[in-house]
Amino acid sequence: MARCHEKVRNQRKDYHHKLSFRLAEEYDAVAVEDLDLKAMSRGLNFGKSVMDNGYGNFLNMLSYKLEQRGKVLVKTDRFYPSSKKCSKCGKVKETLALSERTYHCRCGNHMDRDVNAAINIREEGKRLLCA
Ligand SMILES: [Zn+2]
Repeated sequence: MARCHEKVRNQRKDYHHKLSFRLAEEYDAVAVEDLDLKAMSRGLNFGKSVMDNGYGNFLNMLSYKLEQRGKVLVKTDRFYPSSKKCSKCGKVKETLALSERTYHCRCGNHMDRDVNAAINIREEGKRLLCA
C-alpha cells in the first residue's frame, strides 16, 4: 500500500512537472487561484484529498519555472469570488452549491462552473497585472 501510494505520488509529480513546464513555455503570465487549502479541508470536509492533491507544490513548480523565464505567476486573492461571479455580467451570487456544476445567471449566461471560474481568474489576473 505504501509503495502504491508512493507510485501515485511520483506519477502526479511527473505530470505536474510536465504541465508546469508547458505552461511556463507557452504563456507570459499565468493566473491562478490562491486557495486556502487548510481552510478548505476543514470547512468542506474534503479532508486529506485536497491537502494531498499537491496544488501547493504544483504552484511552486510553476512559479519558479515562470520566474526562470522572466514571466509571472499572478495569484488572485483567496477571497476573490471566482466561482460565484458571472463572467459575462459581473454579478456575484450569494450562494453557489458545490453540486451546481453549471453556472446559471439571469443575464442569460449558462456555462460550465469551472469554465466560468477560469474566465474570472484570467480576467482578475489581467487586472492585477495592470494595476
Ligand atoms: Zn450574468
